[in-house]
Amino acid sequence: MNVLVINCGSSSLKFQLINSDTETVLAKGLCERIGIDGRLTYQPAGGEKTTEDKAMPTHTEAIQFVIDALTDEKRGVVGSLEEIGAVGHRLVHGGEKFASSAVITDEMLKAVEECNDLAPLHNPANLIGVDACKKLMPNTPMVGVFDTAFHQTMPEKAYIYGLPYEYYDKYKVRRYGFHGTSHSFVSKRTAEILGASYDNLKTIVCHLGNGASICAVENGKSVDTSMGLTPLEGLVMGTRSGDIDPAILEFLAKKEDMDITALMNMLNKKSGVQGMSGLSSDFRDLSAGADAGNKRAQTALDVFCYRVAKYVGSYTAAMNGVDAIAFTAGIGENDSYVREQVCKYLGYLGIEIDAEANKARGEEVMISTPDSKVKVLVVPTNEELAIARETVALV
Ligand code: ADP
Repeated sequence: MNVLVINCGSSSLKFQLINSDTETVLAKGLCERIGIDGRLTYQPAGGEKTTEDKAMPTHTEAIQFVIDALTDEKRGVVGSLEEIGAVGHRLVHGGEKFASSAVITDEMLKAVEECNDLAPLHNPANLIGVDACKKLMPNTPMVGVFDTAFHQTMPEKAYIYGLPYEYYDKYKVRRYGFHGTSHSFVSKRTAEILGASYDNLKTIVCHLGNGASICAVENGKSVDTSMGLTPLEGLVMGTRSGDIDPAILEFLAKKEDMDITALMNMLNKKSGVQGMSGLSSDFRDLSAGADAGNKRAQTALDVFCYRVAKYVGSYTAAMNGVDAIAFTAGIGENDSYVREQVCKYLGYLGIEIDAEANKARGEEVMISTPDSKVKVLVVPTNEELAIARETVALV
């Protein structure tokens, strides 16, 4: 079956058409500047990548252009809309209502809407994409795959904050976690690579991208993760602060005369390695900067790696042990320096890294030595494929 995977934001929409039998990408692309002017980037497998300006006042036009490109006589990859068997939508927040992916129905969408408060920037945008698709493909079954669902197995002690309990009762303020599709995909693949049983393995997945989170997966279930009610908590990220002393907000509000909007903007967009270095949120720039003697770039790298190592240590304690550590996403898959620095802190676990193997980029590879007590791997994530698999399983 061909599955159209859609990841819809407020002004952009990424898509991939995946043949689920061969698990290959038939075409992929991106609609940008929706509601502003509009630009479509499209690439059929093995074909040329094209970018063209197209008026996209709403997501409906954007999805129409995607369908037109996919079914185009020359550059298309399917004959007609009928050859698209299902659509898988990435949905960010399923609150406590969704512990797994779900077929999209009116009732299901109502339940997702009830979670909008928890992700006001993401969920409404995701739902606009669903609406537009339903309009243009009314007879095609659709599935919603949530970033939060995998973490619904966390025990209460991992998700309740040290706040008055009434806020959990009234507003469901708790840890939810994100990147669940990636953590699930990578932890499963780690077990496969090791030839181990997924139901009998303790894995820590380090999803280190621009947004970054860590997940403790015990016997196939997420038992803790570093992002919280929102994706701001946990690791230091590209531009997000991660964990800080909450009282810093009051301190800065007074000193800098900042209101809550300005503070949140600072924490989400001006902090992290970008804020610390003053140079870039991209680890390639930070490495180049540090090599050239930029001290703050080096500090940013040091803080990032130290925080990752501290989380790995705490999740090892949470699971009373760890069998495997998997690195994934842009930094985890490509940055051998970060992997090496993180693992240097973990010698007490009996971890030994093979420096030669650790040079690998963007491929599945075991970077620990055969003697290492804990296996350390690079496992490229593939959230689109994971969404396609979930979609096929449900339709
Ligand atoms: P997201 O999906 O959260 O936007 P990605 O997983 O695509 O993030 O990761 C993007 C980040 O990965 C970049 O900001 C950069 O820091 C890092 N990255 C990508 N390629 C490399 C590389 N070759 N070496 C080091 N870091 C890289």
